[in-house]
This record gives sequence, structure tokens and C-alpha cells, in this order.
Amino acid sequence: MAWRSSGQSNVALVENMYKNSLITSPIVKAAFLKVDRAHYAPSSPYQDSPQAIGHGATISAPHMHANAVESLLEYILPASASEVLDIGSGSGYLTHVLAELVGEGGVVVGVEHIRELQELGQGNMSKSPEGQALLSSGRVRFGLGDGRKGWTEPKSGWDAIHVGAAAEELHEDLVNQLRSPGRMFIPVGAKDGWDQYIWTVDKDRKGKVSTQRGYGVRYVPLTDAPVSRRGDL
Ligand code: SAH
Repeated sequence: MAWRSSGQSNVALVENMYKNSLITSPIVKAAFLKVDRAHYAPSSPYQDSPQAIGHGATISAPHMHANAVESLLEYILPASASEVLDIGSGSGYLTHVLAELVGEGGVVVGVEHIRELQELGQGNMSKSPEGQALLSSGRVRFGLGDGRKGWTEPKSGWDAIHVGAAAEELHEDLVNQLRSPGRMFIPVGAKDGWDQYIWTVDKDRKGKVSTQRGYGVRYVPLTDAPVSRRGDL
């Protein structure tokens, strides 16, 4: 992205992203204002840059979160009961923002392959009463598993899939789990962090899949879990 939108507070950060047109929808802006990034980023939460969260993972930069949400928005709204998958949920920040958007009957499932990060995301959400309410209502859940296989609950698939780590390919299971219509936002590229691009994968009402390559990015890779941290995999 061409510019940064750092601020001294959550409100300032979100307002700056709005001013810089990184957030264009007032609905998205309202959702970002509801989630204090300080609960999710261990340092400099209002800086528009990624931050390390341990286990080789990072909380993505705010402008990337904003872009991901805006790109998926029409599949998250206007249904009051959208179902959204957030693969590589990490800090849990985006999972929380998505939950503010899906509506009361909606569900967001965050998937992590490292147990400590699954717990981190859930723990971060528990820091605010709003986050706690979303967890206890069941609107948000954090699962442990290999996100390359998606998540088969609910079995009918997902209106939107966000992938927060760079895949080496457009994994078939993920495309299969997209609803008609549905959209996936996924960074795809080499493991070494170079030559990665955001791809959007759209499935139309008839089930026809189309893909579009977007801008260049640098994400943590979507990999096998380190053996010592796999939990139940
Ligand atoms: N959206 C998160 C991004 C975290 S970094 C945030 O902004 O906080 C990417 C995350 O993907 C890491 O937490 C990493 O553990 C997770 N990840 C990598 N490969 C995975 C896989 N195969 N399945 C599930 N999660 C994976």
C-alpha cells in the first residue's frame, strides 16, 4: 500500500484508514471502531504495520485487515446470518472484526494449527466484554486444525473465506467449501515470502469459479504445524 495510517489511538488509526480510503465503507469503519487493536497486538497496536505475536506468526497490518474485509464485504453482508471462515486466525483480531459484521445469526470460525495461537486468539477476544459476549453466544469459535483443508462445520460451506497466511496453491478443499455465491481472499505464493499475491476466488450462483490475481504482499506461509505444537492434528 502506498501510505500508512498509524495513529495514537484505535479511533485515530481507524479514522486515518478511512481518510486514506483504505476503509471506504462506513459499516466496515464502525466494525473496526468496535475492536480495540490493543487487545490483539502485543506492541505498538495503533501503528499501521504487522507485529510479531510469537510462534513465527504476525498480526497483519491494519491496512491489510481493512482491505481483506472490504474485499469480502458483499459476501459477509447483507445476509443477517453469514458464515465466515478465518484461516490462520493468529491474534484473533480479524476474527473479531468479522464477527461484528456477520449479523446476529452469523458465525465466524477462526482456524489455527498451533494450539498456543488458537488459545491466544480466544484469550485476546476475552479481554473485552464485547468479545466475551461473541464467544459465549457461539457467534465466534476457534478451531484447531490444518486450515488448508478448510473447516467442515457448518457442512454446507462458507459465504466468505479469509486466509491469513500465504498458500502455495489455491487449495481445492477451500474452493469446494465456498458457497455459491461465495468469495475467498487468499495470499498465494512461494514459501520464502517472495512473489506472493492476493488472489480472490469467486464462486457464482451457478457454481462457476473464477480467480483474479491482485497486488503483491508478504505473508507468513500456510504450512504444516511444527510437530511439537500440533495438538490433536
Ligand atoms: N490473521 C492473523 C494472521 C496471523 S499470521 C492476524 O492478523 O493475527 C498467519 C497465521 O497462520 C499464523 O498464526 C499461523 O500459525 C497460521 N497458519 C499457518 N499455517 C496454517 C495452517 N496450515 N493451518 C492453520 N493455520 C495456519
